[in-house]
Amino acid sequence: MQKCNNCNTPFNWRIIFKSFWWIYKPIECDTCGTEHKITLFGRSTIAAMSILPIWIFGYILSPTDNIFVLAGIGLLMGIIDFLLSPYIVRYKKMNKYT
Ligand SMILES: [Zn+2]
Repeated sequence: MQKCNNCNTPFNWRIIFKSFWWIYKPIECDTCGTEHKITLFGRSTIAAMSILPIWIFGYILSPTDNIFVLAGIGLLMGIIDFLLSPYIVRYKKMNKYT
């Protein structure tokens, strides 16, 4: 899990997740107030994680021909990935002078 780059306070899941909903809004540390911005790599990770499972399941594994079952499983995997993504993405300390 991501920690504050300045004081090492761990950010909780809820705060990071909320940042996603606000289109990667910078996270502010509760303890020292340092702002953190999501890295480009972090954004790419989220994008890859939401697309990859659906793609793998639909095109490679193809467990069933039923498009509704496939869509359902793909969506479920997408949601699980999305819920896990706050553990994977990385934020970096924001430079206020740039
Ligand atoms: Zn801090």
